Amino acid sequence: MKRISSPQSLQREMLKLKGRKVIGFVPTMGFLHEGHLSLVKRAQKKSDMVVVSLFVNPTQFNDKKDFQKYPQDRKRDLQKLRDLGVDYVFTPTAKDMYPEGAQTTVQVGEVSHFLCGASRPGHFDGVATVVCKLFQIVQPDLAVFGRKDFQQLLVIQQMVKDLNLPVKIDGAPLVREPDGLAMSSRNARLSAKQRVLALGLSRGLMAAKAATKGRAPTLKELQRIVRAEIPKVKSVKIDYLAFCDAKTLRPLKSFKRGQTLVALAVQVGPVRLIDNVLL
Ligand code: AMP
Repeated sequence: MKRISSPQSLQREMLKLKGRKVIGFVPTMGFLHEGHLSLVKRAQKKSDMVVVSLFVNPTQFNDKKDFQKYPQDRKRDLQKLRDLGVDYVFTPTAKDMYPEGAQTTVQVGEVSHFLCGASRPGHFDGVATVVCKLFQIVQPDLAVFGRKDFQQLLVIQQMVKDLNLPVKIDGAPLVREPDGLAMSSRNARLSAKQRVLALGLSRGLMAAKAATKGRAPTLKELQRIVRAEIPKVKSVKIDYLAFCDAKTLRPLKSFKRGQTLVALAVQVGPVRLIDNVLL
């Protein structure tokens, strides 16, 4: 596995390989878990060589504390990627990615304004900009994103379409812990008690899914079902619970089988968790 930190060096190397090999890419912020690794394995199946980036992108954090406390373990991440047989790992610094004087950003429209876009101002501008830059550096033919961050996946797909970027975007299934909790690097910041409270998210979403078996419930009913599973304690606060069109993220007026995305963001203690399910 080759580790490169300089954007220029990696870009030079990738431009030499482009057209000769199918380049797969998995962008991450590190502190890798099985969810990330499933993306890497998926990329390996669909390409000749795989690049993984480890970069905690400062510009996508609207909350400074969240950025400062974002968990990191570079050594362990590199070992996991080596064990999987990843070809290149890209580990730039913030200065490498944003040298002084940078003036350009990428902004995606409507699809980035709902859900997390509404509660985290500037977040998706940061995401779109860094992913666009990473695509220019890595020159991938294929990039894999997890459906855990469903809105992010749609934002990237929209950007790629609008800017004619020559990369195929692949959406990978959300990976859960055995007890249902959606895997996330931020889970490491939960105390044992908070982790138990956090199970309410997946329980609520699974209950909503179960309620659609063989019948079409109203959205009000589904709201009630999900909310009933979210613990009513001070340290747990729902940021949003939305029922939206899985293609556009526009709010739905009624349940539509196969098109209804339930998206949930909940603050549990110090951590904001997101989860979703397609009904
Ligand atoms: P992050 O390191 O959180 O920026 O995530 C990097 C990539 O991994 C994104 O495409 C995420 O959607 C994906 N990812 C994170 N957690 C999961 C999960 N539990 N299941 C599937 N993909 C995930």
